[in-house]
Amino acid sequence: MKKIQMVDLKSQYDQIKDTVNASIQEVLDTTSYINGPQVHSFQKNLETYLDVKHVIPCANGTDALQIIMMGMGLQPGDEVITADFTFAATVEVIALLQLTPVLVDVEPDTFNISIEAIKKAITPKTKAIVPVHLFGQAANMEEIMDLATEHNLYVIEDNAQGIGANYKYADGSKKKTGVIGHAASTSFFPSKNLGCYGDGGAIFTNDDALAHTLRGIVNHGMYVRYHHDVVGVNSRLDSIQAAVLNAKLPLLDGYNVKRQEAAAKYSAALANHTNIITPVITGEQDSHVFHQYTLRIINADRDGLMQHLLDKGIPCAIYYPIPLHSQKAYADSRYNESDFPVTNQLVKEVISLPMHTELDDEQIKFITDSVIEFLS
Ligand SMILES: *Cc1c(COP(=O)(O)O)cnc(C)c1O
Repeated sequence: MKKIQMVDLKSQYDQIKDTVNASIQEVLDTTSYINGPQVHSFQKNLETYLDVKHVIPCANGTDALQIIMMGMGLQPGDEVITADFTFAATVEVIALLQLTPVLVDVEPDTFNISIEAIKKAITPKTKAIVPVHLFGQAANMEEIMDLATEHNLYVIEDNAQGIGANYKYADGSKKKTGVIGHAASTSFFPSKNLGCYGDGGAIFTNDDALAHTLRGIVNHGMYVRYHHDVVGVNSRLDSIQAAVLNAKLPLLDGYNVKRQEAAAKYSAALANHTNIITPVITGEQDSHVFHQYTLRIINADRDGLMQHLLDKGIPCAIYYPIPLHSQKAYADSRYNESDFPVTNQLVKEVISLPMHTELDDEQIKFITDSVIEFLS
């Protein structure tokens, strides 16, 4: 059996080596390392793929979130609501800009931000909601947008884990995650569903005025060369990364299908076990692109299971082991433990199994057999 990896970037690269290498070689031959034509063509290709008016490439997914909040003109003291159960980048940029992060609990089935918890957290100071399409599953965007309209709030989708997922509205129509809110961020970190070979990120928006503002902010606040109208940052997707992404974007849907197929095989093998809750998909199959495949282990020794898998050469991980409200950097006396029953429970129960585009049936069987072996 091929050695099991949490994310197998090498096997994926081996299959696309010729196209990717040719794409990178073009950048090397032209030496347009920054703002080369590859960056512009990737922007256009991604706009078409997502069906969104504006893609603004930038240096990484964390910058993308920060730049959006700067562009929206959020001010110190403005409250921004986001999920307690996510990667820290989301809350980090809120705090960095001296906005007030308001962490709220998530749903036990999807792990996505709870609508009821958002409702309770809205105050006259609230300016924005940041839903995260966690582990690749679309958050409940229709209800979030309704709440935002009612309270005049911005919605910023953190789509770092969800690129390619489809959100289905009650009327049956669909949109890609990341084009529903006022703006969205994504990350092209190598292990993400659309990964480059270094750091990279992008912002999406359908708002022309906001897009114009953001294009200046990513480039030192310049709208006319050497005229700095606003305080900006330097956040660029470089041409080599754009070249890699141009080669990989046409493969994204196929990659996401491979992830969904691996997830379905895991879930079939692990279904109906008293100690396991397999991932719940609330929409149609295409609403979850399985950036992670995450189980809940109920009334059993989750940490013991993790050690058992590691001992057998099966990588696995706890995403995420500590609620954000319990992190030193983000603790706040405003929070009560009773506000976070779900997150506090999930951090003790979740375990993510290997998930990538190259998992084969033999590996999946070995992994699921090993999980069941420990729990039975
Ligand atoms: C990866 C990730 C980010 C940050 O992306 P970087 O490109 O690493 O800065 C932000 N939010 C979530 C939910 C992520 O998974």
